[in-house]
Amino acid sequence: LIQLSVPLNFIGFVYREIRQGLTDIEQMFDLLEVEAEVVDKPDAKPLAIQQGSIAFKDVHFAYDPERQILKGVSFEVPAGKTVAIVGPSGAGKSTISRLLYRFYDVQQGSVTIDGQDVRDITQKSLRAAIGMVPQDTVLFNDSIAYNIRYGRLGATDDEMMAAADIAQIGHFIRNLPDGFGTMVGERGLKLSGGEKQRVAIARTILKAPPILILDEATSALDTTTEQEIQAALDVVSKNRTTLVIAHRLSTVINADEIIVLRHGEIAERGTHAGLLAQNGLYASMWNRQREATQAEEHLRQVRESD
Ligand code: ADP
Ligand code: MG
Repeated sequence: LIQLSVPLNFIGFVYREIRQGLTDIEQMFDLLEVEAEVVDKPDAKPLAIQQGSIAFKDVHFAYDPERQILKGVSFEVPAGKTVAIVGPSGAGKSTISRLLYRFYDVQQGSVTIDGQDVRDITQKSLRAAIGMVPQDTVLFNDSIAYNIRYGRLGATDDEMMAAADIAQIGHFIRNLPDGFGTMVGERGLKLSGGEKQRVAIARTILKAPPILILDEATSALDTTTEQEIQAALDVVSKNRTTLVIAHRLSTVINADEIIVLRHGEIAERGTHAGLLAQNGLYASMWNRQREATQAEEHLRQVRESD
């Protein structure tokens, strides 16, 4: 027994590390074919999706029992609306997206979609209903066409290319020597962070899920690329229930509600204008980011005039 427990613990450790490192949850499940900690109930039913409204009710969660990460978080994302979660690093933002995807189960409270507790439905149906655009997309060692079509394997070439165009990557791909047949990934063409992200957006456009999670989807990009990607994301999230987790506040101005998370609790909530008027945590974050952007802009102008 003792002999066995060591390697098993080690495997658990490696698994957790991998799980933290890869943000593209959908792909990770497929690539590793691992089972999550959570399992379907024997009588689990497929999610009966209506409009795709999300509700977190008094959610408490901890990875380790000694350290509470979420301490009673409640919010709703009404069908077709966009809710943004912002806040300092480590506040628990990504944890919220992992709970919605049911990577882990809550310890208290509930997460529901159209009134159905995510613990009562099949994981397969849950994950089919959710599209995720992660910060770091891991591409398959395959063609760009395959990487986009992965969103819906039955899609035609025309549909696949249209998705690429909406994601503002079609032009770039057509200019490659092998076009959509170009091999990418570790053994193929290396794409930049912004290009990979647009591939992920194209894939999500093709999947057309009722629910969308964008986790810090534009945080690693320069301002111009970010604006282009933001335009693509606006198209994808239109009329879809969307949860945006963001570092850059400029990307969440238009959200129907912004939730400011701090130490696992909701510190403030409201619209962009409402939160600025409160002159609290959000307002100070906003002012800090605006100063940083202005300084960046100023530096660029100085360099260009040289
Ligand atoms: P955010 O996205 O707001 O930066 P996260 O939700 O990723 O924060 O993480 C919240 C806290 O939980 C952090 O302190 C982080 O270190 C911790 N954490 C995240 N994943 C795990 C894990 N698998 N095991 C233990 N602690 C974790
Ligand atoms: Mg995070």
